Amino acid sequence: MKPISLRIKLTLSFLMVALFSLALVGLFANVFLGRQFENYATARLNQTISNTVEQVTDLYVRSGERWNVSSLDETGMSLLTDGLILRVADASGTVLWDAQVHNNGMCLRILENMAQNMQSYHANFQGGYEEQSFPAVVDGTAVGTVTVGYYGPYYFSDTDLQFLSALNRLLLIAGAISLAACILVGTFLARRLAKPITDVISATGKIATGDYRERLSPKENTAELTALSHSVNSLAASLEEQESLRKRLTADVAHELRTPLTTLQSTVEAMLDGVWTPSEEHLSSCREEILRLTKLVDELGTLARYESDTLALNCVLFDLRQLAAQTAQNCESDAQKKGVSLTVSGEKTTVFADRDKIGQVIMNLLFNALKFTPKGGSISLESKTEGNQAILSVRDTGCGIAPEDLPFIFERFYRADPSRNRDTGGSGIGLAIAQAIAKAHGGEISVKSTVDEGSTFTLALPNHQHSI
Ligand code: ADP
Repeated sequence: MKPISLRIKLTLSFLMVALFSLALVGLFANVFLGRQFENYATARLNQTISNTVEQVTDLYVRSGERWNVSSLDETGMSLLTDGLILRVADASGTVLWDAQVHNNGMCLRILENMAQNMQSYHANFQGGYEEQSFPAVVDGTAVGTVTVGYYGPYYFSDTDLQFLSALNRLLLIAGAISLAACILVGTFLARRLAKPITDVISATGKIATGDYRERLSPKENTAELTALSHSVNSLAASLEEQESLRKRLTADVAHELRTPLTTLQSTVEAMLDGVWTPSEEHLSSCREEILRLTKLVDELGTLARYESDTLALNCVLFDLRQLAAQTAQNCESDAQKKGVSLTVSGEKTTVFADRDKIGQVIMNLLFNALKFTPKGGSISLESKTEGNQAILSVRDTGCGIAPEDLPFIFERFYRADPSRNRDTGGSGIGLAIAQAIAKAHGGEISVKSTVDEGSTFTLALPNHQHSI
């Protein structure tokens, strides 16, 4: 089945909710209003009947303690137009005035009209002619009987029916207006909710085709949609960064290989052309370039090995401070030659790790510190335990690293300043190897640096000694 678009789904959902609530409101309004109106009609009928009895009794008093037929006729006819059939009898039971006798045709027509009204209101309305008799009491004495006939148990007049149908019409119009408003608001909201998702789809589509510059600017204040936009943006940013690193890596590899290969090519060609004799000097220069290339390939091989998931670590318990001191001692003569002071401090820091590989990490960090610290500078190594981590920091007062280079220095072949680094002989793999070893141990190397002030590289390893 073809999937339905989110916008249509949301619009349909809004519409269904609107229809359901309208149906519910309509049903309640109908039942509730109908009941209320029926109660009102019954109360009104009872009120009119008791008014009629009072009115007829009043006629007796006003006509001088007797009933005047002409005034009864006037009242009876006016009641008949209101749908009430009057009959008045005196104390002896003699009927003085009876609407049915007076105008039977009109009585029948009125009852028929009522029956029709009630059938139009309710097809199964159970009603018929009913009458109630009341004594006409003057000064505590019953002077006669007033009987009122009507269509019962209650009836709606023509005006009532008109009112009811006007009310129904109003309800229908209100319902139609709310439905239209629901459709409009629903469509608007569905579009608003679906828009950021369509934006994300179009952005991810572009990212999939390799356009990593695409970014979303979340205008929605819906938390989940804003979070979605942010994750797409950070995905694009990290892909863009990876892409630029990949390009730079290719350029760097080409650069690393080109220099020794060009030197080799020109030296060998010069010898072949007879410009140079294959003297020991020229041949050893060729060998140097070959060694440089071999070293590079070896380093790449080491890095690949350290980064592989299957790297076997030969972990033992040892003191990180002691290893740092030992490594520093090996570099002592180089430091002295360069006029850089080298100190080791800190507490005994026992760690469970591959001693040789951690030794290589310290060596790489120390070599870099030595390379980038000028005469008169200082390098200090400090070990400590912090929480459940063994920490070793290598601080130097060297040239420092520019903030824009800082995020990349652990990438292979990355050299903050290629021209300056050419003399140092590095190929930009040392830190990548050190980081790979730290990560293989579940640890990490971080760096803080200020240009012309120095850098601090911190190796943090998980300290498992308590669990051993
Ligand atoms: P390299 O073999 O070129 O030293 P690394 O991976 O060890 O390669 O270091 C990468 C880059 O990081 C270096 O080329 C240098 O620009 C910078 N860097 C590393 N350590 C330091 C340091 N202590 N001071 C200044 N820059 C450093």
